[in-house]
Amino acid sequence: MTRNASQFVQLGPMPPDDLHVDGVVVQGTGGVYDVRLASGATAAASLRGRLKHEERGALKLAVGDKVTLRWENSDPGAWIITDIHPRMSKLARRAPGGARGERVVVANLDQVLVVFAAARPEPHPRMLDRFLVIAEANGLHARIVVNKCDLVTPAQAHALFREHADAGYPVHYTSIATGEGLQELHDALAGRSSALSGPSGVGKSSLMNRLFPGLDLRTAAISDSVNKGRHTTVGAVLHPLPCGGFLADTPGLREVGLWGIEPVDVPHCFPEFVPMLGQCRFADCLHTVEPGCAIREAVARGAVSRGRYESYVKLREELSAQH
Ligand code: GDP
Ligand code: ZN
Repeated sequence: MTRNASQFVQLGPMPPDDLHVDGVVVQGTGGVYDVRLASGATAAASLRGRLKHEERGALKLAVGDKVTLRWENSDPGAWIITDIHPRMSKLARRAPGGARGERVVVANLDQVLVVFAAARPEPHPRMLDRFLVIAEANGLHARIVVNKCDLVTPAQAHALFREHADAGYPVHYTSIATGEGLQELHDALAGRSSALSGPSGVGKSSLMNRLFPGLDLRTAAISDSVNKGRHTTVGAVLHPLPCGGFLADTPGLREVGLWGIEPVDVPHCFPEFVPMLGQCRFADCLHTVEPGCAIREAVARGAVSRGRYESYVKLREELSAQH
């Protein structure tokens, strides 16, 4: 029988000194990180030497980071993080003045799910735009989940976020009561690393408990409004999913907020604007009052939704006021 590294973690015998394994940081506090290995085992590991020194500077290890571990055959033995792999993406709370003060909430997310209810509570398309801009500014794909579809007709449900579907966002229509859309949502989460966002009361915990019984989410923490206005929160936790992939248990997008997004970047956070950027009469067009504005012309002919455009104007103003 060959033993892999995870069995050593669980069974105790010391692996050879040169053993290296890769894993994903799923939780980290006080310098000790839980690292999920491919086998499904979890190793408690710490940073040493060069990496520890770097962490005090610009580099900070975050939940979601892919790392390489080495077993140090000392007494007692220990798992050491020897390498942090390049990040593919990061959800980060930015600070004014660039990357130095930023705090990475979760690294290597594949997508964020923004959940709203079709009713109870009433959905707010303009609030959704705010979440989507944060996702776009962090370079993350977003999916929209319209839950509680049992409370409205299918036509009403599809009308709610049609402008977002037209803008290119995938929209899932779900109901805990009827089971509608749950398999598709499960398939969209499988094998990917996802974070969940949205107002409280829309059914985020109900959905996840139904899809992944026993996941044990800190349900209060995943409701954005719980942490409204609070900037220090418990660190994110990544839950491995039985179908592969991870679900981040984090206050999500609102915790990250709009802070630090440059006003000039806002048009790029509206994917349906992007093909028209550069076509305005003035190169420095703000797309607000300028004549010959390609974005405003698209709104006038109905190619871009008026509501989405209003969100653009409002969010840009808000960000300009921060400068
Ligand atoms: P969260 O704050 O987003 O995590 O929302 P919860 O999961 O706590 O759900 C809030 C309330 O909505 C609970 O009373 C749920 O039973 C109810 N709920 C969740 N999903 C649905 C659904 O699909 N249809 C209906 N009618 N109610 C739902
Ligand atoms: Zn313009």
